[in-house]
Amino acid sequence: MCADKNHEKPNLLKSLLGNKCARCRRGSIYTTKNPYDLKNCLKMPDRCPVCGQQVEVEVGFYYGTGYVSYALSIAVCVASLIAWWLFIGFSIYDNRIFWWLGVNAVLLLILQPMLMRWSRTIWMAFFVYYDNDWHKGPPEGTGRANATFKGAM
Ligand SMILES: [Zn+2]
Repeated sequence: MCADKNHEKPNLLKSLLGNKCARCRRGSIYTTKNPYDLKNCLKMPDRCPVCGQQVEVEVGFYYGTGYVSYALSIAVCVASLIAWWLFIGFSIYDNRIFWWLGVNAVLLLILQPMLMRWSRTIWMAFFVYYDNDWHKGPPEGTGRANATFKGAM
């Protein structure tokens, strides 16, 4: 029935990792694909190039990404702590834990551009939901109709 690819719902995790628009899960919400192009890595188009969803849903919409970024950073720390524990281990008789602190700090720095981009993508997905009718054009009105803000901010 749904042979048309436009009606397949792309996987949520995949579209988050690929920094796709939350409404159609197809259009990229960043103008550059390279997170290490530090000058441009957070530049976003006004509207999703595929479905027309407004990318900055409200003025200052992305200020809230700090919470997501914090959560992602903690997740990286926990993951690196567990990996260090399993592969290198900790002991009170040497300074391996300080090595972990240093390595973890470097790791966070290196991952930062990617984490910042993912934070915005995840933040957008909190407020804008996948729309089966995305191909019918942008949401009604200003393009903000699809955002489920109820005066929360
Ligand atoms: Zn879109």
